[in-house]
Amino acid sequence: MPTTNSQPNASVFGEAIQYFDAAAARLNLSSSMYRILTHPSRQVIISIPFARDNGEFDVYTGYRVQYSSARGPAKGGIRYHPNVTLDEVTALAFWMTWKCAVVDLPFGGGKGGVTCDPNVLSKGELERLTRRYAADLIEIIGPDKDVPAPDVNTNPQTMAWIMDTVSMHLRAHTPAVVTGKPLNIGGSRGRVEATGRGVWIAIESALDKLGKTVAGHRIVVQGFGNVGSISAKLLREAGAKIVGISDVSGGYYSEKGIDVFGALEHVAKSPNRSLEGFGADRVSNTELLEQPCDILVPAALENQITEKNARKVKAHLIAEGANGPTTPEADRLLSDGGVTIIPDILANAGGVTVSYFEWVQDRMGLYWRESEVNQRLGDLLRENFDVVWDTAKEYDTTLRGAAYTVAIKRVVDAYTTRGIYA
Ligand code: NAD
Repeated sequence: MPTTNSQPNASVFGEAIQYFDAAAARLNLSSSMYRILTHPSRQVIISIPFARDNGEFDVYTGYRVQYSSARGPAKGGIRYHPNVTLDEVTALAFWMTWKCAVVDLPFGGGKGGVTCDPNVLSKGELERLTRRYAADLIEIIGPDKDVPAPDVNTNPQTMAWIMDTVSMHLRAHTPAVVTGKPLNIGGSRGRVEATGRGVWIAIESALDKLGKTVAGHRIVVQGFGNVGSISAKLLREAGAKIVGISDVSGGYYSEKGIDVFGALEHVAKSPNRSLEGFGADRVSNTELLEQPCDILVPAALENQITEKNARKVKAHLIAEGANGPTTPEADRLLSDGGVTIIPDILANAGGVTVSYFEWVQDRMGLYWRESEVNQRLGDLLRENFDVVWDTAKEYDTTLRGAAYTVAIKRVVDAYTTRGIYA
């Protein structure tokens, strides 16, 4: 189990620490606490042998990073992607720590991944790879230790395989070992819509502070997958005018407003779930971000708003549905220009919040109605949005600065109360 002995730089993790540093300075963190919080608690690297369909064995590399368990079991997804590295998984586990803390979930932060291209693997190969990954990590994952979930290229089926593998090894039904499971084996109602619902609630909460409502605002949403399409649908239902949407096929803009329900139907009927062929003015994905609108929801990929295009963004409110869509340089330019940004760790925390509800329901063996899940989600997000908003006022900082400040303070408080076993 290799662990870093010094703070890495020139890396995804090194870059992620930039936002942390500003908030740490604001909180006047002691150098001891700074050192503790800038090192992951545990990094595990495993070699995963698995049988290919042709009878040969391949060996892939897998990771699990538990960044912090100060506030509860580590929590975070598992990613299958050719670019997965220990550095990237560490940065993602670092973000999960603050995301869980900012909405006050009793979880720490974790993340996992396997360096692989799932597109070249059959379903059987993916199942064998996943089961071996889970079996190799069996001592460190579990409802009270570390609770994985889906991330890029993993899904409810992947979680079902992990839950089954762990249950078989422990000789005990263990649904709370993972979240994001299918409903019939302990998943939560409302989980699929939760992240988009959280984005909508975050926008509503921000506008409420300014004495406004969502109705009538012109909104551009980048990305029309789980997060983007649900955000667009809920914002439209709340009376907003969605003027732009996009996916990997390009951007679609209409000043008069996009027919969001038509777009959802179009995608549902399309063989590759794409907007290709949808009837609206075509713009490029870059141009989409620069179209006239009041609110922008980047809900596709990281690093979409950079120092190159930040000055061209017309929106006065940005809600980060995706993780890391705004670079630190763009963040500074936009904030200096008076744009309010609801940061990713707050705006897209709806998913992990309902994952927390799934874990709670699995442990109780009692499952809530969707309306109850949505009610609890709304209460928790609104309450913590208010805390972040007030903290921004108190420290005269941005919502991002305030979100990190709230999250770091909560983790530090947990460490201080527990004491450091050293
Ligand atoms: P998804 O795969 O369902 O959808 C991604 C969408 O982005 C697709 O419509 C895809 O076509 C589009 N896209 C890809 N490349 C694009 C490009 N260059 N320009 C415009 N659109 C492009 O993924 P998702 O679950 O909706 O996740 C989107 C983002 O939200 C990711 O950053 C993810 O980490 C983050 N996120 C997701 C959840 C969740 O619960 N799903 C939770 C928190 C954060």
